[in-house]
Amino acid sequence: MSLEVGKAIEGGKPVKELHLNAYAKINLTLDVLEARSDGYHDIETVMHTIALHDSVTLREAGAGVEVIVHDGEVPNDHRNLVMRTAQLLRETFKVDRNVQIELTKRIPVAAGLGGGSADAAITLIGLAQMWKLRLDGRELLALSLKLGSDVPFFLEGGAAVARGRGERLTLLPPLPTTWVVLARPQIPVSTTWAYKQFSGSTPAGRPNTAAMITAVQREDVREAGRLVSNVFEDVIAGSHPVVGDLKARILRGETYGAGMSGTGPTVFGLMANEAAALRVADNLRALPDVDVFVTRTFAEAR
Ligand code: ATP
Repeated sequence: MSLEVGKAIEGGKPVKELHLNAYAKINLTLDVLEARSDGYHDIETVMHTIALHDSVTLREAGAGVEVIVHDGEVPNDHRNLVMRTAQLLRETFKVDRNVQIELTKRIPVAAGLGGGSADAAITLIGLAQMWKLRLDGRELLALSLKLGSDVPFFLEGGAAVARGRGERLTLLPPLPTTWVVLARPQIPVSTTWAYKQFSGSTPAGRPNTAAMITAVQREDVREAGRLVSNVFEDVIAGSHPVVGDLKARILRGETYGAGMSGTGPTVFGLMANEAAALRVADNLRALPDVDVFVTRTFAEAR
C-alpha cells in the first residue's frame, strides 16, 4: 500500500486526505479445481502485482459516501466496489463519518487485471486507518472477502498463491523486477460468462502450480515465464481468436513467457528487458482495437 496524507482546504477549513495507489495484478497461473456448493469455484492461482495502478483519494468531505470517478466506463454509485467498501465499513462498525472517494482509473476495466478489487482493498485499508477502526489482519481478510474473491490478495499484493475462493493466501517472495507488456483487446469478457464457457469445456492442459511456486520462490523469472498457464485461455481464445494472436506476437519477441490474465481478455508477456518490452509494445500498437501498456512487476515492502 502506498499511503500519503495530505490536507486540502474546503470552505477555509483543512480537510484530511489520504492518497493511495491501487496496483493491478497478473495471474502467472490460474486453475479452477471444482464447483462448490455455494455457487463459487475453488481456484488455485499464483498472482503478482504490477506497477500499473489506479489512484484513490479518500477525503473527509461530502455527505455520506460520495464517489467521483475519472473514467466514463465505471459507475460512481453502489455498483462501484469502493462505494460498497465504504458502506460495508460504515454499517459494520456504525461509523457516521462522511467520505469522498476520488478514483482515477488507469487499470483497464473488466480486463482480468483485478482493477475493481485492487481499488476496494486499498479503500478498505485506507478507511480503516482514517476512521481508526484498529482492524487486525483476520478482520480485514473477512471484510475483503465479502467484497470479492480477489480482494484478499490485494490487501498484501506482491506475489502470492491464492486458494479456496481466493481467501487462502500464501505469500511468496516477489519476483525480481521484470518488464511486462500488457495487450488488452477491446472486447468485453465478463467473469460470469468466462466461468460458464469454462464449465462446458475440458481444458487441454492444466497449470503446474507447484512448479510455479518453486520458480517464484527461487526468483527464477525464466522458469516462471515458461510455466505461465491459465485454464481459461483456450476457452476465451476459442471465442476471441485475437487472444491467441496477441500471445503469439508477444512470444516472437525476447520473452520469458506469455499468457492471459484472469478470465481475460488481457494477454501479458514477461519480457527479457526494457528494450524487448518496448519493441513488442510497438508491434502490438500497430493492431486496431488493442490497448497496450508497458509496465513492471511490482511489490511494496512488507
Ligand atoms: P477480475 O480480474 O477481478 O475479474 P477485472 O479486472 O476483470 O477483475 P474490473 O476492472 O474489476 O474487472 O471490473 C469488472 C466490473 O466491475 C465492471 O463491470 C465495472 O463496472 C465494475 N466495477 C465496480 N467497481 C469498479 C472499480 N472501482 N473499478 C473498475 N470496475 C469496477
